[in-house]
Amino acid sequence: MNQANIEAIVKQVLESMAGGTSAPKASGGAVPATARVAMLTEKEKFELKTYPMPPVGDDDILVKVEGCGVCGTDAHEFKRDPFNLIPVALGHEGTGEIVKMGKNVKKDSAGKPLNVGDKVVTCMIFKDNPDITMFDLNKQNVGGADVYGLLPDDDIHLNGWFADYILVRKGSTIFNVSDLDLDSRILIEPCAVLIHAVERAKTTGILRFNSRVVVQGCGPIGLICIAVLRTMGIENIVAVDGEDKRLEFAKKMGADKSVNFKNHKGIEALAKGVQDAFGGYLADFAFQCTGSPVAHANIYKFIRNGGGLCELGFFINGGDATINPHFDICAKEITTVGSWVYTLRDYATTFDFLKRAKAIGLPMGDLITHKYPLEEINEALKTNLSMQGLKIAIVNK
Ligand SMILES: [Zn+2]
Repeated sequence: MNQANIEAIVKQVLESMAGGTSAPKASGGAVPATARVAMLTEKEKFELKTYPMPPVGDDDILVKVEGCGVCGTDAHEFKRDPFNLIPVALGHEGTGEIVKMGKNVKKDSAGKPLNVGDKVVTCMIFKDNPDITMFDLNKQNVGGADVYGLLPDDDIHLNGWFADYILVRKGSTIFNVSDLDLDSRILIEPCAVLIHAVERAKTTGILRFNSRVVVQGCGPIGLICIAVLRTMGIENIVAVDGEDKRLEFAKKMGADKSVNFKNHKGIEALAKGVQDAFGGYLADFAFQCTGSPVAHANIYKFIRNGGGLCELGFFINGGDATINPHFDICAKEITTVGSWVYTLRDYATTFDFLKRAKAIGLPMGDLITHKYPLEEINEALKTNLSMQGLKIAIVNK
């Protein structure tokens, strides 16, 4: 018997002696008979339900959940059930460790070997098109596919990452991310949104190393946007927000200057503020990262003639914005792109981005301002809805 086996057995014995702990634990291949799932059973109410551990089929992967970020989409579903999913196991920004897998599972979606003990994330589920791989260059946005954490409940129940365990089934995409720390893994999904947005921005041909770039909105999306731009070598970044605390964070993420819109009365003064921050120049390129129609209308005033804009703040319908097509787009010849979620390929790019961000000292982990155990998921969602902090995450013991 080798050392690892002995350690595993000792750990198992110690855990069974501790007894009566709330979360079932698995180690050294031992999988408990039941798993808890935070089930949204009615609006604004998660209940911790205990289900029998499902059998792991030949193509399935059983993952012990380590953590999962709370997304705006979760908060939306928690509050109003717009997707009509209740009862539902939410949580799509999750990561965990493989504890058991079927005999047909050998590799992840990028071709990396998969083994018990590996840390993984899932991406889309292409039920109707299981042959899609990350190497397909055609746009297959996640918007057109399923993801764990937004699936209807079924007999297995382990369909979302707000749980002790999740059963990843055939047709799902999965990535071995054992070389990333837990905080980085929790941030993969939101970071992929920005990798995609920057890829969209690059299609304009306007974004260059020496571009002056304005990022409007310093919530998690805007802050990660700044980090992605910094890891690409873009230095001249101005952050715009209404909260000094967020603007300070923007500077830690790599923004050169910041502008608090509350210090400028009216759009003319605000545009002048942005121009001054760039030393007297308007921006070559702008990222609009808020869900505010007024912010969308304002951002054109920050952009020079011939500049570019990427609009990514309107994840959901935030209403109509009023712009002047002559002054804002036509006469200035602004090139605009929209960006929404990501493709499978962006997901793989994101793993490298997170390593680069760490290597240049960007405090990515600080984006996760609140961590709650699964038992406190209702509080976690309420914290998200109250707009406190930045990224809220459920972290399992
Ligand atoms: Zn999300």
